Amino acid sequence: MYTQNPVFIPGPTNMPEVLRRATDLPTIDHRSAAFADILQPALAGVRKVVKSENAEIVVFPATGSGGWEATITNLLSPGDKVLAARCGMFSHRWIDMCQRHGLQVDTVHSSWQQPLPLAEYEKRLFADKGHDIKAVLVTHNETATGVKSDVGAVRRLLDDAKHPALLLVDGVSSIASMDFRMDEWKVDAAITGSQKGFMLPVGLAILALSPKAMQAAQSAKLHRAYFDIREMAKTYPSSGYPYTPSVGLLNGLKMSTELLLGEGLDNVFKRHARIASGVRAAVSAWGLRLYAQEESSFSDTVSAVETPDGFDATSIVTHAAQKYAVAFGAGLGDVAGRVFRIGHLGSMSDVMALSGIATAEMAMADLGLPIRLGSGVAAAQEIYRNTAASAIRNA
Ligand code: PLP
Repeated sequence: MYTQNPVFIPGPTNMPEVLRRATDLPTIDHRSAAFADILQPALAGVRKVVKSENAEIVVFPATGSGGWEATITNLLSPGDKVLAARCGMFSHRWIDMCQRHGLQVDTVHSSWQQPLPLAEYEKRLFADKGHDIKAVLVTHNETATGVKSDVGAVRRLLDDAKHPALLLVDGVSSIASMDFRMDEWKVDAAITGSQKGFMLPVGLAILALSPKAMQAAQSAKLHRAYFDIREMAKTYPSSGYPYTPSVGLLNGLKMSTELLLGEGLDNVFKRHARIASGVRAAVSAWGLRLYAQEESSFSDTVSAVETPDGFDATSIVTHAAQKYAVAFGAGLGDVAGRVFRIGHLGSMSDVMALSGIATAEMAMADLGLPIRLGSGVAAAQEIYRNTAASAIRNA
């Protein structure tokens, strides 16, 4: 096929042509001034996207999972206790990685349909008078379930409990598509990857670290070598890199932050909120429900749609790929077969979202679900017609 449909997987996301080209660079000497013109704006741009004045931005050739590993190995020591909630596939995997690194994870097992259980975090933080908990883990947006959690509320709990634990946040499927306030929430480590909100190919683990985190890195004792943030921080001021950098991807990152900041972060977040509300309107028009239960925790970047009991939700994903060449996300872990996911993060417009909704409708109707063709599209159109950015500007 000569044409390319947009993807509706929740990452890797669609790449604007200008970013794809930005990553396609002829070789340049990464020890030359030309690299400084790429690295410095990329780092400064990411700092703005996470809304921080002073965060140390560190970019490794890796993926989001590498970002998890870099965060824990740089900031923690063997046997350290961390507080985490297992409320989705990605928080589950991060917990697993912590355990494999010899950390003691105080795991809260909670419903995957709900955001992070604040009351349980509160109980455990207040009970920890000796401050044994060294870090609190938060998955801002559970990509597996379409449930977002309240990072600011976790910060308030830590402050209320006068607890010094580091606040480590997985922002892999939120950062650059949903509001992320590193400084306001006093986040110590924020983690993402290039292939989500930054709309780039897979290949960069992007970290933002607070001064407190950089301090913790001086005494942390878990093994780290390739992922040593101190080496990165040491070489960046002279635009160096401890090893050979992914220059093309970094150039893409520079350009991506220019696009995001050029659109205006608030406009980017509003766009995603608007697109998500159209998708949600479509889901209700189909007579289906989101897997997420609380409206306040509905994700603006991915919607996990529950299918009727006894129906294999993954068949929608397989069928849409085979018949229409359109990619949706399958359910993962505990929700495999029960949900299919519509990703709407990164480069996404109302019109692209409508094509995804229309495709999901066709696939579901083909598979015998009682979906009236056009019902979801019409519901989303109503939202988009009334809230289109240009319509708002012209009002
Ligand atoms: N955390 C979240 C919330 C994710 O959605 C993902 C991947 O989808 C990861 C972590 C892991 O990132 P990666 O696949 O880039 O290693």
